[in-house]
Amino acid sequence: MLESGLLKVIHTKESLEFPTLVFDAPTPDGDVKTWWQIEVTPVIMDDGGVAMLLCNVNNVTEQELARQFAEDAKERELMLNRELTNVNEKLLKTVGDLRRSEEKLFSLNTDLELRIELRTSELTESEKRFRSILDSLPQIAWTSKPDGEVDFYNQKWYDYTGLTFEQSNEQGWREVIHPDDMQRSINILGEILASGAAGEVEIREKGKDGIYRWHLVRVNPLKNQAGKIVHLIGIATDIDDIKQIQHQKDDFISIASHELKTPITSLNAVLQLLERMKNNPSSEMLPKLISQGRRSMQKITTLVDDLLNLGRLDKGKLPINKTFFILSELVNACCNPVSLAGKHRIRILGDKQLRIFADEHRVDQVMVNLINNAVKYAPDSEEIVITIEKDGQFAKVSVADTGPGIAADKMAHLFDRYYRIEQSGYQASGLGLGLYISSEIIKRHGGEMGVNSQMGNGSTFWFTLPINA
Ligand code: ADP
Repeated sequence: MLESGLLKVIHTKESLEFPTLVFDAPTPDGDVKTWWQIEVTPVIMDDGGVAMLLCNVNNVTEQELARQFAEDAKERELMLNRELTNVNEKLLKTVGDLRRSEEKLFSLNTDLELRIELRTSELTESEKRFRSILDSLPQIAWTSKPDGEVDFYNQKWYDYTGLTFEQSNEQGWREVIHPDDMQRSINILGEILASGAAGEVEIREKGKDGIYRWHLVRVNPLKNQAGKIVHLIGIATDIDDIKQIQHQKDDFISIASHELKTPITSLNAVLQLLERMKNNPSSEMLPKLISQGRRSMQKITTLVDDLLNLGRLDKGKLPINKTFFILSELVNACCNPVSLAGKHRIRILGDKQLRIFADEHRVDQVMVNLINNAVKYAPDSEEIVITIEKDGQFAKVSVADTGPGIAADKMAHLFDRYYRIEQSGYQASGLGLGLYISSEIIKRHGGEMGVNSQMGNGSTFWFTLPINA
């Protein structure tokens, strides 16, 4: 390359710059590369011939290294640029992806929020509905957590207990349940939680008037899908009236047994005496014993009749057989035994010709009951006045005594079954059925029965009956 270059300079007579040459020069530290630039310039004589060649040799290692470095840098920059563009593109794509994911997430979130909102409002709605159902119940109702902490009482609770919302939250049922029934309530709650089955208990609950009334409390556990009890629903039904009736019935049975026992014992005694004197009947004792026996028998018959009538009334099977009869004749017949006993004077006033269409036997029963009551409960009343009147289409019969009278608050109950007024001291015999059966008989005839009375001023019991069919 050098030789042809030199020849070219001689031939063209123009300077020539050789391409940069590289040498590997061995040094103690190993080969070292150096770069050299050679420029050849011809020295031309006057005749135009080339006298000599001027060779200018320059070490351009530094420039070359700088150039190379610059070239490398450029290359690196290019590469970097490419890389950067690449990364940028990727980044842009990622950002795009990210934005899309974000949008998706946002829409998912909105969707979820909407669904939660909907579900929550559905739940609130169903809870509201459930509570309004409980509110409309005529019974006391509440819901509680399994530990017994109540989180809802219905309106009836507030009406019955008179407690405010705050008082209910603080004291609640601990304040209302009768202390003697508390342990049983806690026990039943334990049983329900242990078995998972509904349970019930009869307890007394205090009303706003401070009076305890019997309630039948039924508690139902509410379970989640896993079968775990999450709530308890309690409903308390007022059974105080039923309890009272049960109580009355129990009392009635013991009274009825006692009432029957008295005449039976006396009849028994009569029969024993008669047996003793069967071979030697004393003429003066015999009629007394027989009449004593008949009186006892009569008492038993009346009591058994009342019991039978009660049973028939319950089944709606008290037959009414109507015929025409004169009322005053029936009244007269009823008064005879009383008048004969002599202690009371009976006066019959009013329309003695009044004829009615009714069940004579049943009306007789009513009359006997009213007259017997006047004798029993107004023993010091010398005169009993019976009045028969015609009142439009009805006949009205009243039985008035001048006895102790009846307190106003008791009068409303007189015609209830088993009802008897507690007498201080002496208690006349009876089952508390006479007036109940009488008023039922009158009702079945389409009539009415009632009482007018004032304490200390005697009582007038009256009934009406339709005159015609
Ligand atoms: P009993 O069989 O117990 O007599 P009744 O139904 O005939 O039952 O009477 C109910 C209650 O009414 C009696 O216990 C009595 O206290 C009261 N009573 C009935 N008649 C009279 C009266 N004439 N005067 C006062 N109290 C009466």
